Amino acid sequence: MPMTATEFAQGLLKIDPKLAVDVVERAHGFSARVHEGQLRKSGDPFIVHVEEVAKILACLELDTATVVAGLLHDAIEEGDIDVADVAAEFGDEVAELVNGVTKITGLKFESREREQAENFRKMLLSVVKDVRVILIKLADRLHNMRTISYLRDEQIDRISRETRDIYAPLAGRFGMARIQRELEDLAFGWLEPEAYRDLSESIAGTRDEREAYIEEITAPIRERLGRDGLTAGISGRAKHLSSIHRKMVTREKDFEEIYDLIATRIITEDVGECYRVLGLVHTLFTPVHDRFKDYIAAPKMNGYRALHTTVVGPRGRMVEIQIRTREMHELAEIGIAAHWSYKEGRPGDEELRRRLAWVRQLLEGNVDVTEADEFLESLKVDLYRDEIFVFTPNGDLKHLPKGATPIDFAYAIHSDVGTHCAGAKVDGRLVSLKHELRSGDTVEIMTSESAHPSRDWLGTVVSSRARGKIRHHLRQQADAESVVLGRRVIDREVKRLGAKAADVSLDDVAQSFGLDGAQELIAAVGRGDVAVGELARKLRPAGSRGSRIVERITRKVRRPDAGVRIEGVGDLMVSFAKCCQPLPGDQIVGIITRGRGISVHRVDCPNTFGPDIDRQHKMTVDWDVGERQTFPASFIVKGNMRQSFLADVSKTIVDEGVDVTGASMTTEDGLVIARFRVAVGNLHRLKKLIKVIASLKGVRSVERRRSVREHDGENGVR
Ligand code: MN
Repeated sequence: MPMTATEFAQGLLKIDPKLAVDVVERAHGFSARVHEGQLRKSGDPFIVHVEEVAKILACLELDTATVVAGLLHDAIEEGDIDVADVAAEFGDEVAELVNGVTKITGLKFESREREQAENFRKMLLSVVKDVRVILIKLADRLHNMRTISYLRDEQIDRISRETRDIYAPLAGRFGMARIQRELEDLAFGWLEPEAYRDLSESIAGTRDEREAYIEEITAPIRERLGRDGLTAGISGRAKHLSSIHRKMVTREKDFEEIYDLIATRIITEDVGECYRVLGLVHTLFTPVHDRFKDYIAAPKMNGYRALHTTVVGPRGRMVEIQIRTREMHELAEIGIAAHWSYKEGRPGDEELRRRLAWVRQLLEGNVDVTEADEFLESLKVDLYRDEIFVFTPNGDLKHLPKGATPIDFAYAIHSDVGTHCAGAKVDGRLVSLKHELRSGDTVEIMTSESAHPSRDWLGTVVSSRARGKIRHHLRQQADAESVVLGRRVIDREVKRLGAKAADVSLDDVAQSFGLDGAQELIAAVGRGDVAVGELARKLRPAGSRGSRIVERITRKVRRPDAGVRIEGVGDLMVSFAKCCQPLPGDQIVGIITRGRGISVHRVDCPNTFGPDIDRQHKMTVDWDVGERQTFPASFIVKGNMRQSFLADVSKTIVDEGVDVTGASMTTEDGLVIARFRVAVGNLHRLKKLIKVIASLKGVRSVERRRSVREHDGENGVR
């Protein structure tokens, strides 16, 4: 028998006495009417779901508006009312919250990946506006996970995965440890049922032993604190399942070998006591070097504060001990939700802003991320990474993901500093831009007007902010170069047509392609979005003869770092095809690719034919190579089985002054087949090398590879 609105509201009041009971009661009645007759997959009336969501929110000590919005969170999506109805009944604040949750849920896109990414992006945007939206969403997800067994297997799998990968870490990021733990364990149970069952049994089976051990470690601490007149509360229990499981996986250990599965907590009266207790604990047990963390002096980004130390307990086992005040403890459990509680020590507006800084940075760093998976990837990275903290020369604290480099740091200061980052000092010492920063480092960035992001930087940074900004910069640069390339193609085409070119304006031509003006046309041609043949047809009066391949539009410009150069177009727009690995001396052709500039292939590369490539995309290009420049090339050596075959051939290559960048070997019918990847200056050098190898004892054949596929086991021996 479902509860009446009054019963429900009274029950909720017991959880959180500061709630406005009349509004809660009214919201319950409203929601019950909207969801009248609707059932959940479990067979429960729908109202049970929103009741549970409201309860979870009340347990987080959230305010009346949020709890009421929790009762109404599915009213628009599942019922037939709209935002205005909610606003009329409960005011704008509640209506906005319900609307926020509905917007996140209601998005539909063509693919799951896209849909997910767009959902998360919307969710983060709503967080910036009002973080309570995500708290409702998390409560909704928690109850859905608790009752997920009624769904179909593939739904269970998808939702559990999403919970594990996004929602649980998100709860963690907001400092909501209690919800994070439950979400993690529920998802773990569904995604890895066997590991879950084994682990639960192991935990249950070792319970007596564990409790005895907890007593062994806490009794002397309790006794020692008592002697000093400290009344701290001490507790110990097993860590939650998924965290133990994670340790087992990352350390490749069995359950029996994981000793620190006990979480020991000491709750003190005030901050000063935390440090006194720490001192006493360290006199009783030897602390493990490097495992002490002072999150009171330097709180985590999500606001978490405590002292962590690991000590060598009885029988040599490592035990982690967390020391914090009661307030810190409560905040650690409910995290950002504490902002709405009336308790002492709740985070204020400024603190709230600071704790949401990472969300803004994530969104800001990815302003023009159009690729769904790119966004999801950076979101996951940001959610998972441990953080480090480093300092500016002025002593300002910056949080960065673990593995961060000076470039990440530079972008964390300001995007201009990032863009012009030229060098870095850590604690006064010059370091490379790839140097991995550590907590406590003081980092100084040197900038230079001429410094600019390069593609390499993407492999060096770990923060999504830096990644987003670098991508943005590279894209802009590519756009600028597309314009130069496009203008050259069009000029050449107009010149070639000469008198035959119709007297049409580029604006008109642009329009015939559905583009907005000459500028857009030029860029589109440069990007390869408009085929040159098509363009020629539009430039020519009707009736004249068919278009030819674009004539030479290249000019050699000496530049040591390129290999093929098109005037005004930088490296970004020219790349060498990985499939055929052209070498100076090879006949080459440039193919205008969509959005990636010109890809240079050997003329006989199979990828320069085919249905996707019409000849209008082809372009004549010439080699223009610096003296010391090398290019990748691959060849296959076949020979008689012999112990030192690979070593002999490698030595010969090195003796010839060529660098080996990769090698792998297989055998077939008593023959050794070795694939080599080298860096060589030109075709002549490669031919010479092949000749020398062919003359080695036992070598049957040496052949340059015509085309190299990606997954070819190229990375065998380094
Ligand atoms: Mn719901």
